[in-house]
Amino acid sequence: MTDPVLPEIVVDAPEVVVELREVVKEYPGDPPMRVLHGIDLAIHDGELVSVVGASGSGKSTMLAIMGTLDAPTRGTVLIDGTDVAALSERERAALRARRIGFVFQQFFLLPALSALDNVALGLLYAGVPAAERARRAADALERVGLGARMTHRPGQLSGGEQQRVAIARAIVGRPTVLFADEPTGALDSHTGERILELLTSIADAGTAVVIITHDQHIAERTDRQVRIQDGRILDDTGLATLREVVR
Ligand code: ADP
Ligand code: MG
Repeated sequence: MTDPVLPEIVVDAPEVVVELREVVKEYPGDPPMRVLHGIDLAIHDGELVSVVGASGSGKSTMLAIMGTLDAPTRGTVLIDGTDVAALSERERAALRARRIGFVFQQFFLLPALSALDNVALGLLYAGVPAAERARRAADALERVGLGARMTHRPGQLSGGEQQRVAIARAIVGRPTVLFADEPTGALDSHTGERILELLTSIADAGTAVVIITHDQHIAERTDRQVRIQDGRILDDTGLATLREVVR
């Protein structure tokens, strides 16, 4: 009897863009305070992931480590397969400038600069010539729906518009991953909803988007939810595309 012929399943496996391996973080003290207790996590291109947990659970600490802004006490951080610990400070800054975008609750725009100049700043450390910085900043502002607000300063924009400028600044360098720490925390729910839609469209275009939130309603809007409690991953719904293949 011959073996049954199994249907061939072809899965175009997404690339891992950020990986944490057994990441431990302690803050100095006597005794030291352990905030992350051995985190293992892989984020893939085009994923829309939320990291959800109560205040103090270690979300921002984890984001700073994933974003190479802070180093783990132990364990390994890989960005696009590169071990961050093997890089010099300068190489790490270059990696961050080219591969990683950040969005925060408080926008962090420069008040004296136009939206266009704020976004162009996102390319300052990526070695892009000034004329091209302006052109790409204009493209990024179009992408976030602010093509008609380029010369406005932050004080002349609504909260939602300011967060769009911050998102444009974060994606103007075409990063592989965008980290957003409570991106809707300072916005009313309707405006927050529009920002979530924008972040979803950015993930659909191929950039991994990691949203840090304490808000379960926001987490439910993402493809994958990683639940964190007291510095440990409690639950991870996993890669959405693989779930669909298995179904
Ligand atoms: P979350 O973002 O989930 O609210 P954080 O990562 O900001 O959590 O904080 C996790 C824990 O680590 C908290 O108990 C916080 O007080 C502590 N913590 C955060 N940053 C520092 C620091 N720089 N030094 C000492 N403790 C810190
Ligand atoms: Mg936080």
